[in-house]
Amino acid sequence: MESTAPFSPTSMTMPGLVRHNSLEGQVGKTKIASLMEEFDKKEEPVDNERVQNAIIRHLSTTMVKIPKQVDSFATYMAAAYSVRDRLIQRWNETQEYHESLQVKRVYYMSMEFLLGRSMDNALLALGLKKVYSDCLNGLGFNMEDCLEEELNAGLGNGGLGRLAACYVDSLATLDYPGWGYGLRYEYGMFKQLIVDGYQKEVPDEWLGDPNPWELPRPDICYQVRFYGHVNTRRNDDGKEQMHWEGGQVVDAMAYDVPVPGYGTNNVTNIRLWSCKKEKLFDLGSFNEGDYDHAFAAKMHAESLTAVLYPNDNHMVGKELRLKQEFLFASATLQDIIVRFKQTGRPWSDFPNLVAIQLNDTHPTLGVPELQRLLIDEEGLDWDTAWDIVTRTFSFTNHTVLPEAMERWPVPMLEKILPRHMSIIYDINLFFLQKVEKRFPDDRELLRHISAIEEGYPQQVRMAFLACIASHTVNGVAEIHSEIIKKTIFKDFIHYFGSEKFVNKTNGIAPRRWLHQANPLLSELITSVVQTKDWVKDLRLLGKLEEFVGDAEFEQQWMDIKLANKKRLAAYIDKVCNIKVSPHAMFDVQVKRIHEYKRQFMNILGVIHRYNQLKAMSETRRQKEVPKVVIFSGKAASGYYVAKLIIKLITSVAAVVNADESLDNLLKVVFIPDYNVSVAEVIIPASDISQHISTAGTEASGTSNMKFVLNGGVILGTVDGANVEICEEIGEENIFNFGCLADEVEDFRHTQRYRPMAIHPALKSVLKTIENGTFGKPSIFGPLIETLTSGGDVYLISIDFPSYLEALKAVDRAYRDKKSWVARSIRCTANMGKFSSDRSIHEYAREIWGIKPCPTPPKV
Ligand SMILES: *Cc1c(COP(=O)(O)O)cnc(C)c1O
Repeated sequence: MESTAPFSPTSMTMPGLVRHNSLEGQVGKTKIASLMEEFDKKEEPVDNERVQNAIIRHLSTTMVKIPKQVDSFATYMAAAYSVRDRLIQRWNETQEYHESLQVKRVYYMSMEFLLGRSMDNALLALGLKKVYSDCLNGLGFNMEDCLEEELNAGLGNGGLGRLAACYVDSLATLDYPGWGYGLRYEYGMFKQLIVDGYQKEVPDEWLGDPNPWELPRPDICYQVRFYGHVNTRRNDDGKEQMHWEGGQVVDAMAYDVPVPGYGTNNVTNIRLWSCKKEKLFDLGSFNEGDYDHAFAAKMHAESLTAVLYPNDNHMVGKELRLKQEFLFASATLQDIIVRFKQTGRPWSDFPNLVAIQLNDTHPTLGVPELQRLLIDEEGLDWDTAWDIVTRTFSFTNHTVLPEAMERWPVPMLEKILPRHMSIIYDINLFFLQKVEKRFPDDRELLRHISAIEEGYPQQVRMAFLACIASHTVNGVAEIHSEIIKKTIFKDFIHYFGSEKFVNKTNGIAPRRWLHQANPLLSELITSVVQTKDWVKDLRLLGKLEEFVGDAEFEQQWMDIKLANKKRLAAYIDKVCNIKVSPHAMFDVQVKRIHEYKRQFMNILGVIHRYNQLKAMSETRRQKEVPKVVIFSGKAASGYYVAKLIIKLITSVAAVVNADESLDNLLKVVFIPDYNVSVAEVIIPASDISQHISTAGTEASGTSNMKFVLNGGVILGTVDGANVEICEEIGEENIFNFGCLADEVEDFRHTQRYRPMAIHPALKSVLKTIENGTFGKPSIFGPLIETLTSGGDVYLISIDFPSYLEALKAVDRAYRDKKSWVARSIRCTANMGKFSSDRSIHEYAREIWGIKPCPTPPKV
């Protein structure tokens, strides 16, 4: 009942700091209830005059502007507040409706939500884009300028965080009862500058402007404890009970981000926790006059949700990160329990009303925290509690890269979360006892399957803990789900059987990644599919197949691609000061910079191309396809090799772009500060995009889906969702190359593999770097060494020859404009499977057990 009656604050804030008196007169409440009901009944009708009035009212009141101060920023903010007003009403209705029916909800727990901007998305969802566009024009502003004023909510690193955002979009659009839970970082993913060709990180001040898309909930606060000790006491009926006491307590406060479904009344919620500042003072030391000490505690607490760790697919074992994870887990589980208790149902019903999805292992402390809350705070016995836990949680694995596996040292856990460490020991002990019973005398198996890894120090394997506690474990693409069954979870299959391990191929929200990012194509599609329903039912795109060969349609299709390329060319000119021709082939690789994603191989291919072009005769050159190779992406701030890859790309770009002998046949661009909004400009403009991870390393990828949905062709390895995209669109419409996942281990470990003994093309490319063509060669020494003394872990020297062949095949195919456009149309037409709506339907039916519950429209 968050909507009408905020949780009683007394139970969850420090006694001295309660601000509200919950004992209001019943009469007043009834009056308020009936007035609010009246108010809720009247959703603002939509017409230009009312919308205009709402914007003006927010300009003058919320924004405190007089006419001469009104600029596009103030206008954007006022318009955003007026949209938010509508969202809040629907948010209230949705939540109240779901509460009243006591439907089962899913809680999608994710340390990251890469939301990007909200305004355009909300206007399209509510069907208000046209009205707002007209109104803004009426005020002397245009929509594009106003939309550009919005900051990017970058509370995530890359694919995993964006997936969470797409999934909440689908939950809302499909009317599923469900929320996202996350953290409200004051600084999201850093901003990337390129200085002297190197990446430079600057803080992302995304809360610098007030954020109209979040609703602060000062009444919804929970205490979260760290350190301290565990005491054992006997309760009234003589049972021993553990109590975690002392230590340090911080408050987590809720901020709600409403997420509208497309074309539905449903507005769902992402609840983000912020470590609350005012409430953190250590009251004890404050009263003793120890101001410094009290203030130090405050600063420490502020830093808990201050900043997102900028590591993608890489674990850093910092204490602060562990505390972030626990703050997140504890506040979320406490909140879910409060909401459950309001239903008045017995504990055995908890899994019938609550499903919790762990987005990777980051929220896994939610497992021992739920167990602790149930036994220590609610007085359930261990087995009853554990039964509830294991019927509630399910877990998504996102990677098999060893460096990404979360492991926490036991001593660190014991210090920061002593009660949880003892619960984890017990969970593991009871689990191992059951394993031993089934497989007696198999010490090796016990050692392998234990959630505690032996060593100095011992470490908790979070993926194992998540697996033991979850009723279902899923990978994110067919190939990945098969790989995890054969590798990290092999022993678990031995014990649990394989039914617990399933696949849920990732998806993307068609709303953002086609309808919003590519309005021209969206309109063309609607005109030929003859309904807008494809936005919610992506399989309808299949109808586009019928228009392959239709000359007029194909011309429109190409015109739109060209228009999108012009839009990107203008952006490149603006941010990189490089002029590129929209008539050249746009060859794009945009994603986090990582060795396994092999941007290094791409730029080596560019150098190869550069050498080829330079060696060509004038007449031969005339026949070549002009190409713009576009890179974008951030490297983790501590990832030295990835940062060198950026430096190599920018260094090659500087030389190639300045070389007039190439007749503009090759340009290389590194677009700084890749984020959701930049992706929305780049993706619709690609002719070809590269998804070239070493086979078996990219769990799914989602940008591959975004590109193909927008009629872009893939050049890729047989990895992640590339495999299923190929199945859907047909192998004649994708360019695959490289070794296969099941060959990788052999290549890495047998003598068949001798780096550098392999291909002369690669040798000559490396020579071009080493002879100083792109600046001091010593700069790139450590990068080149990854291929030699480093053992070439990602098999660039194995795949390079077939990569060059594939690039040639792409060039050949691109020359045939007619077949290229047919391929492009077929790509879009067959992407229905990759809607996040399909993924969410599968999760809902097969893992969560939730049903759509559309909020009825107003009468
Ligand atoms: C989709 C997306 C990603 C994921 O890209 P992959 O190529 O699948 O790794 C990363 N960052 C942003 C901003 C995205 O929109």
